[in-house]
Amino acid sequence: MILMKIKPCLAAIVPLFLAVAGCSAGAASDPSPGTSTPGTLRVVAGLYPLEYLADAVGGDRVTVENLTVPGTEPHDLELTARQVAAVAEADLVVFERTLQPAVDDAVDTAPARRALDVTTIVPLVDRDTSVAAEETPGAEESEADDHDHGDTDPHLWLDPTNMIDLAHGLADELASIDPDGATVYTANAETLAQRLNDLDAAFSTGLATCQRRTFITSHAAFGYLADRYDLAQISISGLAPDAMPSPARIAEITTLAHDEGLTTVFFETLTSPEVAETIARDAGLATDVLDPVEGITDQSHGSDYAEIMESNLTALRSANGCS
Ligand SMILES: [Zn+2]
Repeated sequence: MILMKIKPCLAAIVPLFLAVAGCSAGAASDPSPGTSTPGTLRVVAGLYPLEYLADAVGGDRVTVENLTVPGTEPHDLELTARQVAAVAEADLVVFERTLQPAVDDAVDTAPARRALDVTTIVPLVDRDTSVAAEETPGAEESEADDHDHGDTDPHLWLDPTNMIDLAHGLADELASIDPDGATVYTANAETLAQRLNDLDAAFSTGLATCQRRTFITSHAAFGYLADRYDLAQISISGLAPDAMPSPARIAEITTLAHDEGLTTVFFETLTSPEVAETIARDAGLATDVLDPVEGITDQSHGSDYAEIMESNLTALRSANGCS
């Protein structure tokens, strides 16, 4: 029902800044996040990695609101009525279709929106996250196991080169909305791309020579990273972090850890480490953090995407004996 709430100021399409001012005034009774700086484009991002991109590329010309509150988990996000209104009032919504159906609904319901679905720039990959399929080709799989099969993997931001493509695509989108800022957006995207290129080079070099190439994660967030750097992830749960592993799955992982000489079970900052810690204890392994960068909190090992990814690289190098 809240999806039907459409702000009358949407009828004012141009001029842009007048429309921004009008909508902001209408939201003045709500002091929560989303109040935009006058004269800036109001950008709404579905989750942290897209907020990071929008901040970096938009710079001073945008005010960015992240729909996923820091410390909460972005999969299957629910939107408040105020957030639905924020989507409707935004000059640009940057989102990832299928990851957050409530955001998809808000974008589809709001008329005359500029919305950038990042999967139109970087297509999502279907991924089989079962242990058997990834690690023991040809092995028979038990039908009783609650493996995820052929699900679409939303975690495209964990390959830094995908983020470079998104930065350039976002710059183009912002420039089409705000042509006066085109050179700024292009320059900002270029600066970010250099940072991300350095990150990509650090991963390529840092993970080139390792004693092991397999790592154990909580949920199957690291497929794009593994593809990029020739690693293999074994995930305790599937593509969504709330899936509980079956006892059979846990037994499989424990066996694989021993067979492959793995040292570490990785857990995340936004979800409970309990299952990872149990498996690690039973298998005599260490635990460490591998962050899917789905949100930033006080627990994060870094203050932004690039810093957390550098921390991830350090953790992977340590766990896998990379020289
Ligand atoms: Zn995830």
